[in-house]
Amino acid sequence: MSRVYNFSAGPSVSPESVLLQAQQELLEWRDSGMSVMEMSHRGKHFSTIAEELESDLRSLLAVPDNYKVLFLQGGASAQFSLIPQNILKDKTKACYLNTGAWSEKAIKDAQSYCEVIVSASSEDTRFTSIPEASTWLLDEQSAYLHYTSNETIHGVEFQSTPDSNGLPLVSDMSSNILSRKIDVSQYGLIYAGTQKNMGPAGVTVVIVRDDLIGHAGKTTPPVFNYAEQAKNQSMLNTPATYNWYLVGLVLKWLKAQGGVEAIEQLNIAKAAKLYQAIDQSTLYSNPVAVPFRSRMNVPFILGDESLDKPFLAAAAANGLFELKGHRSVGGMRASIYNAMPEAGVLALIDFMAEFERTH
Ligand SMILES: *Cc1c(COP(=O)(O)O)cnc(C)c1O
Repeated sequence: MSRVYNFSAGPSVSPESVLLQAQQELLEWRDSGMSVMEMSHRGKHFSTIAEELESDLRSLLAVPDNYKVLFLQGGASAQFSLIPQNILKDKTKACYLNTGAWSEKAIKDAQSYCEVIVSASSEDTRFTSIPEASTWLLDEQSAYLHYTSNETIHGVEFQSTPDSNGLPLVSDMSSNILSRKIDVSQYGLIYAGTQKNMGPAGVTVVIVRDDLIGHAGKTTPPVFNYAEQAKNQSMLNTPATYNWYLVGLVLKWLKAQGGVEAIEQLNIAKAAKLYQAIDQSTLYSNPVAVPFRSRMNVPFILGDESLDKPFLAAAAANGLFELKGHRSVGGMRASIYNAMPEAGVLALIDFMAEFERTH
């Protein structure tokens, strides 16, 4: 076996101990006599898995009691449409910050359900910064303010929770949830697909304040109605049982690492080392303004585009995979989520220095 360092943006690297535990438990989970993927979602064994999943996530993020935690399907992409359907209530407008490709998609989908006010946009900087908060147009009649806390493609991340001036704050945290400490009580709704920082694809976490739900229209499918799913422990239909189990293992792994505060320190160190290596080189550069650089996704370009292919080939030969940037921005991107060990980042830095020396 030869596992590589996998810098994929998602689905992405999982902790090796989690994969090994899943392997060990594949045929029989605890003393159940069967695999998790064979269990009834209504049975007592799976109920234990579901309860531990929710309570571990609640404790890792210190989710207050007046928030529901849902585990849904359809990815973060489905939420782009489901959020307005569920929480507009009697309002007809919603505010969105446009800070990159994922914000753009959220805005486009929301436009089918409400009038979208783009409160601010960094499109004019080609999404390499975040507009000054004092310039944001926050409309008091809007149902909420939506923002993407980490732009996975552009490598731009909010370093603190924005001030929504009283509007319920909605955040797409798909690519940085559990990577840094947050105060959930400052949010109306947080959502995230699991395939970046929580394990395999197939589950979407929605954390939503009680008072925002229960107002979906009749045209919202029941499985996509937050209040209905909350009433049914996210089991209105058969959930992605095996994926819940795998996400649960990742959460237990994170708790064993010391939780969010401990992993955040590691993430700060990993990102700082990689950005420093990029900034100090004459071959590589990162276009994002320093205060907004993502700790999770680090895009960089080589001075000479003709070196892209040789770079990727040599990286792969050194066990460093999935470094190609998103097709919309080109260049390279190293995604260094929670499960990427520091050794992987150091191996990448060493390789980059060696490649620069020989090219
Ligand atoms: C990956 C990603 C999405 C899309 O997730 P899907 O599960 O493919 O729908 C949305 N937002 C952000 C910030 C992402 O990183």
